[in-house]
Amino acid sequence: MWKVEFLVSNVDTSHLWLLCRSIVLRKIKLIQKAASYKNMCECGLWLLKGYLMKNTLADIAVEGKKVLVRVDYNVPLDANLKITNDKRIIATLPTIKYLLKKNAAIILISHLGRPKGKKVDAMSLNPVSLCLSGLLGRPVKFIGYDCISHESKTAAANLKTGEILLLENLRFHPEEEGKNAVGEKDNNAMEAFAKELASMGEVFVQDAFGTVHRAHASTASIVKYVKDVASGFLVEKELKFLGEALEKPIRPFLAILGGAKVSDKINVIENLLNKVNAIIIGGAMAYTFLKSQGVSTGTSLVEDDKLDLAAELIRKAREKKVDFLLPIDHIITNKVDFTNKHVPSEADVKITVDEAIPEGFMGVDIGPKSIEKFSEVVKFSKTIVWNGPLGIFEINEFSKGTVEIAEFIAEATTNKGAISVVGGGDSVSAVKKAGVDKKISHISTGGGASLEFLEGKELPGIVAIPDKK
Ligand code: ATP
Repeated sequence: MWKVEFLVSNVDTSHLWLLCRSIVLRKIKLIQKAASYKNMCECGLWLLKGYLMKNTLADIAVEGKKVLVRVDYNVPLDANLKITNDKRIIATLPTIKYLLKKNAAIILISHLGRPKGKKVDAMSLNPVSLCLSGLLGRPVKFIGYDCISHESKTAAANLKTGEILLLENLRFHPEEEGKNAVGEKDNNAMEAFAKELASMGEVFVQDAFGTVHRAHASTASIVKYVKDVASGFLVEKELKFLGEALEKPIRPFLAILGGAKVSDKINVIENLLNKVNAIIIGGAMAYTFLKSQGVSTGTSLVEDDKLDLAAELIRKAREKKVDFLLPIDHIITNKVDFTNKHVPSEADVKITVDEAIPEGFMGVDIGPKSIEKFSEVVKFSKTIVWNGPLGIFEINEFSKGTVEIAEFIAEATTNKGAISVVGGGDSVSAVKKAGVDKKISHISTGGGASLEFLEGKELPGIVAIPDKK
């Protein structure tokens, strides 16, 4: 009260009128802002419902049934066909263990690599069956050669409850990806293949988040031929984290985007501009944005044909009052050995004083001032979505920006309760390199799928799952 009295006694009446007018105008602006935010939330909630209203395992009866589960066992193999990273197999264990507890008979279907519709021995799922068997401590039957052969169908028909069968690589059949035997697009062939797969089970569970952005036989078509369909626990978890981050974020909401090219992430940026409070841009992408603002970028990786678009995105961000943060300094070098991922001894590596990069030098990482500026934004954010490294993180000398920002995200998550979601193969490796992967709220298992989700695209494999009754 004393404050008002002070104000009143210290202004003449014309000033008082102006003061009241500005208070009223500010109130109106706040109400307008709240109304548009409410609209955004309502629209977002509708989308969120779309994804979160899908059938999950808890919605369907699986006890004693033959359950077909689409998993993503597209794991990396070395020259001796040894699995070098079993993360994707481990990610399917909750669904498999749940089905075992429910005494279901489990038939797993997956692809591995890109055999292009032909049998390729090096892309057999046999190593996966052995690995899965080791992880579960029980046998996993494997039928080689052909996932819809007489042998596969017989094995599926004879499968008892509590048993697990893994069928051979779906992509040995061109029909899986919607093509016929001569490689032409053929929807009927895809439907027929999906029907054959479906005939082996009574229930279908979609747990391959890495492939739900593809409209394939085992993602979108198969659901038409099985009575009960649901998402598995992995897909449910992905939708929950990505969906809630995008549609019901706790604010401030920050997106960090990096990586090689603006062109890969235009749609992601466009979509996120409608949702976030701030966007941090790093990696090579940043140089296209900086050049579009007239900043010199030396020999940095720039997409010259995307300069107008980059400028337009910055303009849109301003219009939408989204903080659009670009690096304010860089680590630069005049030489990089991209093939062997190292810095030659004769290379000159330095830090710029500001955002400008001199002739003959390329930006390879964000500089210390940028790290500091970005970390301040990270610290105060409550929802953080990250896709793409902020520098050439594969080279140790140029990984500092990516690693430190990963550490700040982890800190915001564990100490300040922020929700952090990381997607994209390279970003996930970066988080691991920083040793903070366990501190991130959710690491997406699907690079392409999570990117399409962030773009706001419909994911055919998810759309196909029926809504809860
Ligand atoms: P994925 O494509 O696997 O989903 P991602 O989305 O996390 O991964 P990409 O867009 O593929 O990331 O970009 C990662 C690549 O960008 C890395 O190989 C990294 O070295 C490269 N990169 C980052 N910054 C720069 C830079 N300043 N100059 C050149 N390349 C860079």
